[in-house]
Amino acid sequence: MRIVQCPTCGKDVAWSIENKFRPFCSERCKLIDLGAWATGQNSISTPLTEKDLDDPNIEAQITKYFQEQATKDVSDDDNQLPIKPLIK
Ligand SMILES: [Zn+2]
Repeated sequence: MRIVQCPTCGKDVAWSIENKFRPFCSERCKLIDLGAWATGQNSISTPLTEKDLDDPNIEAQITKYFQEQATKDVSDDDNQLPIKPLIK
């Protein structure tokens, strides 16, 4: 069984289909994270799905996810480039 760390509190969490709150340890931590999303502190481009559970690279994906989050925190403003209209 894979163990991941709860993104909210850092507690070890069993990554299994039985844990409907994964990757969180509990509903409480999940709701806290959803609250953070609502305020724009977090974002995700590709939500994890049931299919991802069978992916042997899931740990790499999780690592990539958190790296993206860390990158976003510092470079968000730089990514807000003005969009130039393609049609004149
Ligand atoms: Zn937690």
